[in-house]
Amino acid sequence: MTDTLLPLYINGQKIHSNSGETFTNFRPLDGGVECEVSLASKEDVDQAVRAAQSAFETWAGTPGMERGRILLRAAEIMRRRRQELAMIEVIDTGKPISETPYADVDSAIDALEFFGGLAMDIRGDYHDLGSSAMAYSIREPLGVCAGIGAWNYPLQIATWKSAPALAAGNAMVFKPSELTPMNAISLAEIYEEAGLPAGLFNVVHGKAETGGLLVQHPEIDKVTFTGSVPTGKRILQMSSETVKHSTLELGGKSPLIIFDDADLDNAVSGAMNANFYSMGEVCSNGTRVFIHDSIKGEFLKRLAKRTENLVVGDPREVETQVGALINEDHGQKVMGYVEKGLEEGATLVCGGKRISVEGLERGFYMSPAVFSDCTDDMTICREEIFGPVMSVLSFSDEADVIERANSTDFGLAAGLFTKDLARAHRVVKKLKAGSCWINNYNLTPAGVPFGGSKQSGIGRENCARTLDHFTQVKSVYVEMGAVECDY
Ligand code: NDP
Repeated sequence: MTDTLLPLYINGQKIHSNSGETFTNFRPLDGGVECEVSLASKEDVDQAVRAAQSAFETWAGTPGMERGRILLRAAEIMRRRRQELAMIEVIDTGKPISETPYADVDSAIDALEFFGGLAMDIRGDYHDLGSSAMAYSIREPLGVCAGIGAWNYPLQIATWKSAPALAAGNAMVFKPSELTPMNAISLAEIYEEAGLPAGLFNVVHGKAETGGLLVQHPEIDKVTFTGSVPTGKRILQMSSETVKHSTLELGGKSPLIIFDDADLDNAVSGAMNANFYSMGEVCSNGTRVFIHDSIKGEFLKRLAKRTENLVVGDPREVETQVGALINEDHGQKVMGYVEKGLEEGATLVCGGKRISVEGLERGFYMSPAVFSDCTDDMTICREEIFGPVMSVLSFSDEADVIERANSTDFGLAAGLFTKDLARAHRVVKKLKAGSCWINNYNLTPAGVPFGGSKQSGIGRENCARTLDHFTQVKSVYVEMGAVECDY
C-alpha cells in the first residue's frame, strides 16, 4: 500500500479493492491530483456488509453506557487531531481553513459528544393496562445502516450519520462522495483508536454505482442519505424494493426575509452567512433574500461594500474567506447561473467573476455574486445553484412575502430578521421549512433538529429524535391474569 492510494476500511482493516480498480481524487484548490482512491467492487461492498452484520450482533447487546463511552473517546481523539482534520477538509473540499476547524471538525465533535451522552439513555415506554396486564415497548437498533454523503461537509456528514447509528446499537457502511473521500478514513481511524469493535464502521469508496449497491443490498436495513433531490428520489425508489427505513437530507432554495425594522448590519451579516459561507455550497443557504422595499437601497449598499471586500484565495491561508469551488465542472455550472441571471434581467450588483489565484490557476475561484431586481420566476430564484450567488428580491407586504417564500418544492430552511418578536413567531409558524432562524442564519448546534420538509427531505439529524430514525419499536404485552377464551 502506498501513501497515495486511499484505502477502503472494512472490518477494522485498511484494505484495497479486490478488483484493483481505482479513481483519482483531485484537489479543488489547484485542480491537482491529491491521491488515487481504491474503488470498492461489489465483492468489497458485500464483505463490508457481512462484517457489519456480524459485528452488529454483539454491539446491539452492548450496554448503551459502553457504546456511549466509545463515542466520547472518539470525540476526544478528534479534538486532538482537530487542525489536521481541518486541513484535510480544506484539501478535499477547497473550503477555507478559517471555517473548517469550526464548521466541520467542531460540529463532528459535538455530534460524537451529544450522541455519546444519549446512548446511555435510549429507552422505550411502559403502558399500564390495569391490574392484570401491562405492556412495554423496547427501542431496538435496526441492524446495518448505509450512510451516503455529499461532498460539501464530508466529515460532518459522516459523523452526523454514524454517531447516532452507533449510539443506537447499529453498524454502518459509509460511502463518502467520490469527490471528498479522505476524512471518512480519518473517522474510521478515530473510531478504531477509541475502541470501536471491528466491523461496526466501514468505508467503501466509489461513485453512484457503489451507492446503488448499498441501497439495493438485501442485508442493509436502513439508508441515511445526504445529497441532491434527484438522487434522493432515486434512493427512495431503490430502497422501496426491500422496504428499507430511509432518511434523506436533500437540497433547498431557502428564503431569508428581512423586514423594515431589522437591524440592518445584522441582516447584512445574516445574508452573507446565508450565501457565501463554504463558497455557497451549503444545502440550507438562504439564497432568496427578500428585502423590504423601504430599506432595499441601504441594504444593497452595505451588502455590496462588505461583499466586495471578501478575501477570495488560497483556502490554506488563514485570511482567506472564500476558497475554491469543488471543481471546474461545478464552477462552470455556477457561472452558467450568473449568465442566466443577467440574461433574464437581474442586476448584478457585485461579483460573479472568475478569479485567477496566482499559483492555483487550475482551481475554480469566483467573486461572490449579488443579484438585485430579481423576480420569483427567474431561474436563479427557482433552482439550487450551490455556489456563492445571492438573489435579492423585494417585498412590501407580510402575507405576500410568506406566500412567495413558500412557493417552491423545496422546504429545507428559512430565516427572517425583525425586531418585532410577535411578527417573527407569527411568520415562522407559516413558513414551510424544516429549519428556521430568527435574527440569524445557518447555525446548527447539536441537539437542535436539522432537516427538510416538502422535497427537501425526510427525517431530522443532529438531535435526540434522530435516534428514532435509527431504532424500531417492539411492543410487548404481558398478561398477569387468566387468559379469557370464548372457545
Ligand atoms: P448527489 O446527490 O449528486 O450525491 C450525493 C451522494 O450520493 C454521493 O455520495 C454520490 O456519489 C451518491 N450517489 C449519486 N447517485 C447515486 C445513486 N444513484 N445511488 C446511490 N448513491 C448515489 O449530491 P452532491 O454530492 O452533488 O451534493 C450536493 C447536494 O447535496 C445539494 O443538492 C445539496 O443541497 C445537498 N445537501 C444536502 C444537505 C442536507 O443536509 N439537507 C447537506 C449537504 C448537501 P458520488 O458523488 O460519488 O457520485
